[in-house]
Amino acid sequence: MSAPKSTTTGLKKRENAILDLLKKGLERKCFDTVLIPVKVPAGDSYVWVLAQDNSLLDDASPLPPVMPVHGAKAISSVMRRGKGRKRIATVMRPCEISATIELSKLGQVELDNVFLISIDCPGVLPLSDYLENPKKGGDAFEKVFKQWGNGSVRPICQVCHRFSMPTGASDIHIGMLEAGERDIFIISNSPKGEAILKELDISPKKEIGSWKDKVKEITEERKNKRKNLQEELKPGVVGLDRLLDTFSKCINCHNCMRVCPVCYCRQCYFDSDKLKHPYEDYLFRAEMSGGLRFLPDTLLFHLGRMAHMSLSCVSCGSCEDACPLKIPVSQIFGLVADETQKLFDYIPGRKTDEPVPMATYKEEELKEVED
Ligand code: SF4
Ligand code: SF4
Ligand code: SF4
Repeated sequence: MSAPKSTTTGLKKRENAILDLLKKGLERKCFDTVLIPVKVPAGDSYVWVLAQDNSLLDDASPLPPVMPVHGAKAISSVMRRGKGRKRIATVMRPCEISATIELSKLGQVELDNVFLISIDCPGVLPLSDYLENPKKGGDAFEKVFKQWGNGSVRPICQVCHRFSMPTGASDIHIGMLEAGERDIFIISNSPKGEAILKELDISPKKEIGSWKDKVKEITEERKNKRKNLQEELKPGVVGLDRLLDTFSKCINCHNCMRVCPVCYCRQCYFDSDKLKHPYEDYLFRAEMSGGLRFLPDTLLFHLGRMAHMSLSCVSCGSCEDACPLKIPVSQIFGLVADETQKLFDYIPGRKTDEPVPMATYKEEELKEVED
């Protein structure tokens, strides 16, 4: 993949340019607080912080090298008990913005007082690689900008075809591809975005032809890579027996579900008493099949999750990052999601007013796949 021209400037310069924009927004009271990743004091990870004054933003990192907590998880936690009056601005990667939009459709995020800023995303490093040596991880991430989304980012990021957000879901988009010496440029995506940029005396970039061409070029490359990755994956995971083999080492820890931004149920069926059976039931099941593995119902958990949320899966890679057994969870869920989303011509996070398919009952639906 060819590297964009803009990547000769450093990551820190870009982060500072984004932080300057946010500081100006706070000073001019365009928003009251900023939800943003900040490096932890130990220096080896990042957490989301609601920053209300500019001094806190000095330690913030709008482009962290890893994604320990998905941005949509962070914002839905802020709004768990409903929205408030304060206006929040947040800078997120496109998969985080898309999941936030999905959660808004599911009633778990209120977008009225939220100002969404998306960025061109080069990907993030696998969390386990980064934690082994954060210093080395930081250096590797610098290179990711020089060779846009190079091989050290997570496998799912290497095939991410929605790494940019040209229209629709965010209020403003920060472009970095083809930015040249300016490091970043700003595209207005909504009337809310336009109004805030006016208050900030910032003119959005109008001539975005070369950026669009670059995004298109990388998108096509990624689509092909994604197709190839999925073709390689399929023989090992398609069919019940193969899926059973793939998830045979799963320890049923449910990490993948807990970190998933669009696994939105407040009470998960798979954590409930419904799946805790009397002693005799387990013995009966063991007797019927000659043996029963514990913890039980592992594949049922994954199939249930797929059936429940694959239409909103944003292929963010969080589940894979969180899996202690290194099962390629997001690659498998991404494969299923690509198929189910295609069936409904649905792209999660594409528009705020596009309902999630199957969320409401329609009598005339999927006739073509009926027996
Ligand atoms: S999946 Fe990776 S490349 Fe795509 S938006 Fe998310 S972090 Fe960026
Ligand atoms: S299933 Fe995995 S890849 Fe899909 S949205 Fe959830 S965490 Fe992200
Ligand atoms: S995180 Fe990995 S081990 Fe844990 S339940 Fe998910 S797939 Fe299984």
